[in-house]
Amino acid sequence: MGLPKRRISRARGRKRRTANMRLAVPTLVECSNCGNRGMRHRVCPKCGFYRGKQILKPEEMA
Ligand SMILES: [Zn+2]
Repeated sequence: MGLPKRRISRARGRKRRTANMRLAVPTLVECSNCGNRGMRHRVCPKCGFYRGKQILKPEEMA
């Protein structure tokens, strides 16, 4: 088994670990139909449109 030659400094170890703790910025895209901002590759929760087509009926939604 390999053994590390040097102890990794506190700062270096912490830096490596905190790299995964950064908050992911959510990618918001505007709906082509109503302009509502939502997640990419998802049917618009407001009007039910996706890729220029009506997927969900508006009356189905609250
Ligand atoms: Zn919409």
